[in-house]
Amino acid sequence: MIIKQRIPKIIAGPCAFESREQLKEIVKELKKLGISCIRAPLWKPRTMPGWEGVGAHFLHFLLEETIPYGLIPATEVMTADQAMLIVEALRKYGKNAPILLWLGSRNQNHIEQRRIAQILSSGSKGIWLMFKNQMWEDEKHWLGIFEHLKASGFPKNRMLSCHRGFSPGKSPNPGKFRNIPDFNMAMRVKKRVKLPMFLDPSHIGGSRENVLKIIEDSKNHNFDGLMIEVHLDPKNAKTDQNQQLNMKLFKKLIKQKQAA
Ligand code: PEP
Ligand code: MN
Repeated sequence: MIIKQRIPKIIAGPCAFESREQLKEIVKELKKLGISCIRAPLWKPRTMPGWEGVGAHFLHFLLEETIPYGLIPATEVMTADQAMLIVEALRKYGKNAPILLWLGSRNQNHIEQRRIAQILSSGSKGIWLMFKNQMWEDEKHWLGIFEHLKASGFPKNRMLSCHRGFSPGKSPNPGKFRNIPDFNMAMRVKKRVKLPMFLDPSHIGGSRENVLKIIEDSKNHNFDGLMIEVHLDPKNAKTDQNQQLNMKLFKKLIKQKQAA
């Protein structure tokens, strides 16, 4: 198995892992485009009660459909129990089994964040931990997430951060973004924590049109990569129908990036 020491510049895949068939099909398409880190979250935090993801039962499928093919699976992890399940399930794939896990914007219990990071640091040496900024605009809090993870003992050389914008609240929002980006803050945090800083244009944009606009707007900032939602049939997706790119748009984006 190839051990990837770096997370590729593009992490792509659906908002949520919906079925094994869906994952197989999207992996096939993304692989053709050279994408090797596949997001397919098992657990979905929702603003309103509703479908909350396929859950732990599908963890084995997520690993089976990616790792044996040299791909890196990626999912959000919300609790220490989930972290434990992941560490256990990865054992089958060796001590360097790769996976990218992230702490999402809603998950701001520092005790739980530290327990997750502690559990993950006892697992495979191929576990990467990404932390997104919290929902509300507060640079110090974002930096604090890093400090908590660091204090848990998770190795810094397998950490990264991701900007997903801030909840609009009362701020003017002429672009009608789902979340408002602050690229300058993201760059300041990157400089302070000295970690790769990814951008999640999907949860910032909230619509396919805005996702592409955000990628364009971020060009002059030194982001290290993108995490982007792609679905073969976004209109019938179980979550985030408006912002997941279809294959046609995603292919176009990849071509533009290759040409740049
Ligand atoms: C996600 O990336 O699936 C997600 C829920 O993101 P966020 O925490 O940024 O809303
Ligand atoms: Mn989503």
